[in-house]
Amino acid sequence: MMPIALNLVLVSTPIGHLGSGRGGGVELTLCSLVEGLNAMGNQLTVVAPEGSVLPAVASGVEIKHVSGVDQPSWQHAGDKDPAVIPFNGVLPRLWEEALELGKSADAVLNFSYDWLPLWLTPRVEPSVFHLISMGGVAAIMNDLIADVASWDQRRLSFHTFRQASDFSLVQPPTVVGNGFDLANYEFQRTNEGPLGWAGRVAPEKGLEDAVAAAAALGDQLIVWGLIEDPGYASEVESTVPSGTIDWRGFLPNEKYRRELSQCRALLNTPKWNEAYGNVVVEALACGVPVVAFDRGGPGEIIDSGVTGWLVPPDDVGALTAACTRISQIKRLDCRRWAEEWASQEVFAKRVDAWIRSGINSLDGTIS
Ligand code: UDP
Repeated sequence: MMPIALNLVLVSTPIGHLGSGRGGGVELTLCSLVEGLNAMGNQLTVVAPEGSVLPAVASGVEIKHVSGVDQPSWQHAGDKDPAVIPFNGVLPRLWEEALELGKSADAVLNFSYDWLPLWLTPRVEPSVFHLISMGGVAAIMNDLIADVASWDQRRLSFHTFRQASDFSLVQPPTVVGNGFDLANYEFQRTNEGPLGWAGRVAPEKGLEDAVAAAAALGDQLIVWGLIEDPGYASEVESTVPSGTIDWRGFLPNEKYRRELSQCRALLNTPKWNEAYGNVVVEALACGVPVVAFDRGGPGEIIDSGVTGWLVPPDDVGALTAACTRISQIKRLDCRRWAEEWASQEVFAKRVDAWIRSGINSLDGTIS
């Protein structure tokens, strides 16, 4: 028997509108979940910054647009940085709308990694749930996540165990992974293509190590992604022979996927505790093996020797050597992993089950 449909309010990232690329992997996560939860028969309303667009297939899903100034990201925060909200900020407005809608919904699901929604959680009537999208970056956020966990940890879920290990939790974490509409990712058998790298071009993504490995092989590296830090991008470029990097910029997702699928491998070289690593799974979905540092989400996702190679973090020599073993990986095994663990359907089921299990409130108090 189908369980009774949930009425859910999904609150998008305040960093940029959906489709801008500024929200990074969160944009894709939210769109995937909108499609997956909608297909399960749940009733959804999305609250998102002005300009946001939902996937065309999410018919019947209402979107409420809210205007205001983008929220700064925590991605580059220092440990002691404060929480800030800009004048005319979009974040409080998103929550004003979401909490109003939440009065008649079963739950409000938050996608923004920010202080305000977490702080509100034990203090408001609607049941607010958080899919935490990053590892620990600043003490004020870590403390608040620990507070919510000790109040009612059922309201929190994470993409990977490695990400969750950054936080002080009272129980083992609920890990939901991530999910993709795999029909959008075409499996490519060819293993003769170029090496690729994808992500925001910013220091925590460690592009310099992937570029150094490509240069050591006398190869070229195709780079897709938003150049968040132009100074860093030109610094990386200056370390290798000219022409090593083929900059493609931030492409619309469909075009990016098509180009990515032609690669013989994707390199993934995070310097931070990457929460998940959408680009890793998108590559696997196309049959592209991934050579990565054994750190954060990618280190948990990649089955070394089966779907790619994991090497010690920051070890460019090992990364370079692993690139010479790419042909040992069967591209079909990469696709199969994505089908089993990271489809939109399995992800939506995990999130649906998590929310259902946490809907009844406990009598906890904030620590
Ligand atoms: N992406 C894209 N076009 C590009 C490069 C990247 O649409 O040219 C998307 C990619 O599909 C992925 C996201 O950008 O979903 C990056 O997410 P990831 O989790 O890897 O990193 P984040 O930026 O969230 O730290």
